Amino acid sequence: MRYILILCLTLVATPLRAHNTDAHVISNMLAAFYHVLSHAVIDKLALSSSANSERDASMLSVMLIHRFYEENAAADHATDTNFGFVDKNDIRFQVSDPSDYWRAHGTSVSLFNDLVCVFYGGNPVERNTLSNALGLSERRKKTCVTEFERAFDDWEPVLDELEVIRARGRGEPLQFRADRTADPVHAEVLRHEVWALNKALQLPAPVDVTMRACNRENVSYMADRSEIVICTEYLAYLAISAEALHD
Ligand SMILES: [Zn+2]
Repeated sequence: MRYILILCLTLVATPLRAHNTDAHVISNMLAAFYHVLSHAVIDKLALSSSANSERDASMLSVMLIHRFYEENAAADHATDTNFGFVDKNDIRFQVSDPSDYWRAHGTSVSLFNDLVCVFYGGNPVERNTLSNALGLSERRKKTCVTEFERAFDDWEPVLDELEVIRARGRGEPLQFRADRTADPVHAEVLRHEVWALNKALQLPAPVDVTMRACNRENVSYMADRSEIVICTEYLAYLAISAEALHD
């Protein structure tokens, strides 16, 4: 399965550095998807207090990328998305209002630095240059291997459990669907990602993944509906912000 994900993600994780709007949209769509999928995992396994849920979901999403992406794809993903904090560029360039997703998730610089630190700590040699580019200080680097090990100890057993649930046939595969507003390429990429994930791990309860219009520039997990929603408006917003970043 890992090979499937590697193939898929290597194909889609074309760097933002190439000024490719589609790659920017797809990478950030996947980053947001992994973040809200982490919220779904935490919810369905009843793992987190609400006070820590944002930090927990962010850490789990980094551990998902670390576990399932091959190194080059993981590095491209981190570069393209800044761990979902890419919207900070929009504020810097003042090209658009921040999205709903950014308002909910992108406001903590300390969390961003923690995520970069944990990612760096998972492979300090190969991720050194990237971490420098993302602004990780030499002083902070000293604790990152320990911080990664702590996150690993916290979250690897969770990912192991999801693999065991699937292996024993007790899991519920994510169900993907897209409405007519969805870009066919975006829908196909996410459909493939969901398909590959379902082959690796499964939740103990059903969760839908829907790409649809929702009048908001958002990606969210709606616990009461057991639904991950990728608003097509958010993907349109990402395309506009990508163009503006490279003007
Ligand atoms: Zn969140």
